[in-house]
Amino acid sequence: MLLLATKNKHKMEEIKRFVPKDLKVVTLDDLGIDQEIEENGETFMENASKKAVFYANLSSLPTIADDSGLVIDALNGFPGIRSARFMPGTSYNEKMQMILRMLEGKTNRNARFVCAASYYDPKEKLLVCVEGTVEGHISKEIRGNFGFGYDPIFVPVGFSKTFGELGEEKHTMSHRYKAFSKLFSILNVIILAK
Ligand code: IMP
Repeated sequence: MLLLATKNKHKMEEIKRFVPKDLKVVTLDDLGIDQEIEENGETFMENASKKAVFYANLSSLPTIADDSGLVIDALNGFPGIRSARFMPGTSYNEKMQMILRMLEGKTNRNARFVCAASYYDPKEKLLVCVEGTVEGHISKEIRGNFGFGYDPIFVPVGFSKTFGELGEEKHTMSHRYKAFSKLFSILNVIILAK
C-alpha cells in the first residue's frame, strides 16, 4: 500500500492517472492526517523529498509526494518553487494577470513546468527522487478552462494552445506525467527485485 501525500486535489487527480492499476493507494484524508510541513527547501527535489519523508514517518507507509512549479526565464526562474505561495490570498486569475504584466515588453517568454516526484520507504529507509520537465512559453493572454493553477498561460513546445485549452492532452506530455512515469518505472524494478 502506498500513500499519495498531497493536499492539492488537482495534483492528486493527475497523479492517480499515472499510478499502476495494481497498486493500492491511500490519501492523507483517508488516514485522517492533516499535519502540514513547511516547504522551505531550495529546490523542487528537496521539497518533494521532505514531504515524502515527513508523511512516510507519520504514516509508516511507503509515500509519494510531488513538488512542482512554473519557471520563467525572463523572471530569473520566478515563481519557481514559490509558485503556490506567490501573491497569497489571491485567485489564479490574479496571479496569472500579474505574471503577464511582469512579462510586458519582454521578448523572451520561455518557461517550463517542473515536477519533482519523491518516494520514501520508511522501513527500508530508501529515498527515490526524479524530475520531469515540459518546455514551453508564456502566452500573451489567459486562455482555456481545463486544468488548474497556471495552465491557462502555459503553451508547451510544438503547440499553439495553452495547457488550459489542451485538456486531456496535457497528461500525455506534462512535467507530472514525465516525473511519475520515471518514478513508477524505477519502483517497478525495485518491487520486482524484492
Ligand atoms: P506545490 O508543489 O504544492 O508547492 O505547488 C505547486 C504549484 O505550482 C501549484 O499550486 C501551481 O500553482 C503550480 N503548478 C504545478 N504544477 C502545475 C500544473 O500542472 N499546472 C498548473 N500549475 C501548476
